[in-house]
Amino acid sequence: MGRPAAHVGVLALQGDVREHVAVLEALGAAVSLVRTPAQLAAVDGLVLPGGESSVIDKLSRAFQVREPIRARIAAGMPVYGTCAGLILLADRILDGLPTQLPFGGLDIDVRRNAFGSQVDSFEAELAVPALGEEPVHATFIRAPAVERLGDDVDELASVDGRVVAVEQGPLLGTAFHPEVGGELRFHRRFLDRVSAVRGRMPE
Ligand code: GLN
Repeated sequence: MGRPAAHVGVLALQGDVREHVAVLEALGAAVSLVRTPAQLAAVDGLVLPGGESSVIDKLSRAFQVREPIRARIAAGMPVYGTCAGLILLADRILDGLPTQLPFGGLDIDVRRNAFGSQVDSFEAELAVPALGEEPVHATFIRAPAVERLGDDVDELASVDGRVVAVEQGPLLGTAFHPEVGGELRFHRRFLDRVSAVRGRMPE
């Protein structure tokens, strides 16, 4: 018999959780909110939303999901992080708060608030060849930028010479928020990774 539909989670400690749930559901995924280790264990992939990375870090420790998330990332779970979520996926944070930790997994250095305080937020049309010819309408809100990419990390997009979308195997990260502008292709790519990983698992 076939396996049940892929089930993905959105880390729901803080941030723009609802927007991600809406996009994932629009793409036909079964979605649940993840706040506990048991909820994490039930999903095949995880979205880390935008918000405030230091707060999500702190709450992940309080809710005891940080180590389980790190273990699932190490075991190959597909993850998509936007903005604060990209910061959490990075192996190293530049300009983080002194006590702030990432989950890690993506072999990158990411700088918080890389676009400066004058330009708190902006929108841009980005070329993202991996997603096709149609440009991505990207919303940046106190956005980070990727400053170092490890050998296994692919750049997917840049703006003003700064890398703002990356991929490393099942890990995808964007410094901007496609979920607020009706852009579905990054989430579809994440769901494709989830299906691919499930396809390799024993029944
Ligand atoms: N600047 C925020 C942080 O450091 C990220 C902003 C966002 O997610 N829109 O976490």
